[in-house]
Amino acid sequence: MIENKLPQNPKPKEWLASELSQQRIADYKPFNFVDGEGVRCSLYVSGCRFACPGCYNRVAQNFRYGKPYTQELEDQIMTDLSQSYVQGLTLLGGEPFLNTQVCIRLCKRIRQEFGHEKDIWSWSGYTYDELIQDSDDKLELLKLIDILVDGRFLLAQKDLTLQFRGSANQRIIDVPATMAAGEVKLWKNLIR
Ligand code: SF4
Repeated sequence: MIENKLPQNPKPKEWLASELSQQRIADYKPFNFVDGEGVRCSLYVSGCRFACPGCYNRVAQNFRYGKPYTQELEDQIMTDLSQSYVQGLTLLGGEPFLNTQVCIRLCKRIRQEFGHEKDIWSWSGYTYDELIQDSDDKLELLKLIDILVDGRFLLAQKDLTLQFRGSANQRIIDVPATMAAGEVKLWKNLIR
C-alpha cells in the first residue's frame, strides 16, 4: 500500500550534489502563475532521492531525466526574468539542493544582474533545519533564496487547500528573516 510507505530520511551530508547531480533539467516553464507569488519562471531540475509516495513529479526523481543545463537556457531564463511583469524565479524538481551546481550558478547571476528586484523561491524535500546542518553548497544556495517551501510530501498529511504546498507538514519560509532571527519565520503573505 502506497499510503504505508514513507519518504527517505538522509543523515546530514549523506546525499551530495557533487556525487549525484548530472546537471540536467526536467523542464523549464516561463511566465506561470502557480509556482509561487506573482508571475514566475520555473526551473525543474532532475534528480531527487526522497522518494515521497505520491510525488507530484516522479519522472524527475531520476538524475538522468531530461536534458543538460546549458548556457543558452540560462541566457533565456535571464531574458524571460527581465520582463517587468515577472516577479521572480522558482526552483523545483527533482531536488534543487541536490543540483546546487546549476542552482547556485543561476541564482548568483540573478543577484548580479537584478539584485533583489527579482525574488527567488525554491521547493525542497529537505526541511530548513536539515539544510542548515548539511553540506556547504546547500547552505550557499539557501542564502541565495528568499522563500523556501520545505519538507517531504507526506501523503498522510495531504491537503490540496494549502497555498503552494501539498501536505500540512510543509512550510513557506522567509529565509532572510529566518536567518536574521535564528528561528523559522513564515512567509508574510501566508493565508493558509
Ligand atoms: S521531495 Fe519532492 S520531488 Fe522529491 S520525491 Fe518528494 S515530492 Fe518528489
